[in-house]
Amino acid sequence: MKRTALLGAMVLAGAPLAFGEDHDLVVRNARVVDGTGAPWFRADVAVRGDTIVAIGPNLPGPARREVDAGERVIAPGFIDVHTHARRGIFEVPTAENYVRQGVTTLVEGQDGSSPLPLGEFLARVEALPPAVNFASLVGHGSVREAVLGRADRAPSAAEIARMQELVREGMRDGALGLSTGLFYVPGTFARTDEVIALARVAGERGGIHVSHVRDEAAGVLESVRETIAIGEEGRLPTQVTHHKLIGRASWGQSRDTLRLIEEARRRGVDATVDAYPYTASSTGLSAALLPAWALEGGTDALRQRLSSPDTRARIRAVVVGKIRDERGGGDPGNIRIAACAFDPALEGMSLADVLRTRGKDATVENAADLALEIVERGGASGVFHAIAEADVERILAAPFTMVASDGEVPVFGRGAPHPRSYGTFARVLGVYVREKKILGLEEAVRKMTSFPAARLGLPDRGLLRPGMKADLVVFDPATIRDRATFEAPHQYAEGVSLVVVSGEVVLEGNRLTAARPGRVLRGPSARPAASGRAAVAY
Ligand SMILES: [Zn+2]
Repeated sequence: MKRTALLGAMVLAGAPLAFGEDHDLVVRNARVVDGTGAPWFRADVAVRGDTIVAIGPNLPGPARREVDAGERVIAPGFIDVHTHARRGIFEVPTAENYVRQGVTTLVEGQDGSSPLPLGEFLARVEALPPAVNFASLVGHGSVREAVLGRADRAPSAAEIARMQELVREGMRDGALGLSTGLFYVPGTFARTDEVIALARVAGERGGIHVSHVRDEAAGVLESVRETIAIGEEGRLPTQVTHHKLIGRASWGQSRDTLRLIEEARRRGVDATVDAYPYTASSTGLSAALLPAWALEGGTDALRQRLSSPDTRARIRAVVVGKIRDERGGGDPGNIRIAACAFDPALEGMSLADVLRTRGKDATVENAADLALEIVERGGASGVFHAIAEADVERILAAPFTMVASDGEVPVFGRGAPHPRSYGTFARVLGVYVREKKILGLEEAVRKMTSFPAARLGLPDRGLLRPGMKADLVVFDPATIRDRATFEAPHQYAEGVSLVVVSGEVVLEGNRLTAARPGRVLRGPSARPAASGRAAVAY
């Protein structure tokens, strides 16, 4: 804060800032894609401290640090609205997989699952600190588990009140809103009215609702309707996260789900979508393939059910159906083990591969038996190829869809994770903008920046404007690409040449710096009233 008096005088006099040397960083000769979706323009971008202070042609210099963008694009740092970054961020605080895609903010607490109390967890992240910003939702499933355990029953009035108090506490601790995972145990045991009662509490405090919907296969339409109802009756913004249609029978239904969102928006429901650019999903094997009732009560209860031949047969029948018609896409070769603690040798193998090494035919029935065996031995996460490219394209193209990875922070080389963790943002820019031309460059950047920032209530990020925080990415739109594949996921994206977080350079050229300027971004009801949306009266 040097020269404050002089600068203050100049600003008061209405004179333009003319002290190039007072800029800590100037990125010159860039195509500015400002995050609004407006066409790019040629300008320099100047930063002082953690803030963008000027954007315009031929800004005076020299600055303390100057970077020639060489006609590449400069954009606001990308905001990833759906991550599982607490897997890995403490081991890999550089979040290199995300930084190399230009991501500068990660949002955790998804799918109904968040650490509780959230404040303690966020303080640990803050103490780390990571290279990128970090925010979180509070998870309905975690709140429900704290009050009801993994029981499949409705809560009493007192239990609802207790859950509301935990949501309130999460919001006070800095949550951006409430996430639900109505597909997962225990969230799936909740009826819609329970979720609405909790969503209201988040909404009253300026939060949003983000949902991994109840069913992304046969019940997807009903599930999208439910997500809309939670927003409508809970009186808060609502979002279908990582929207996808699983299993051949549901392919093409994105026409109908997107129409439902459109209709809801027309009548005044603030409903939106996020999605990742891949035709495979990833989650736990048991969540993906077993019926929810089999998972009630936790691992011991499941093992007990599997030890009874009758119950096992009923569970197996569901698993067969899900491999044939849903996540398995009709072929055990479509299900690949991502991470398996009890036998890492299985990682990267499909269920069909494992069966063949045992001299068995890769039938759906044999795969179901193998899946049950894996679940009994401690479980595994999987990658499931059962999504149609046409749905991915249609969902990404919708104006109310933003980009999210659903990824984590992998330890480089460990396991066989879904490539989305390494590739999502670069893939949208390389494949869906440059190659397929499904999206314009400026529109794709909007879906990664100002749109999620507005959605999440982050008022000072997501736009290139003087006064905004200096989260920046410079990339070459002609070369940016994802390299991570399902076969070889541990490959960083290419084409990003500069990443700045709160004014500090975390990547330049092809190298990460030692800087870890990431901050915890807390939501509206944790902020002091003077500085954010909490000033709005409820
Ligand atoms: Zn999810």
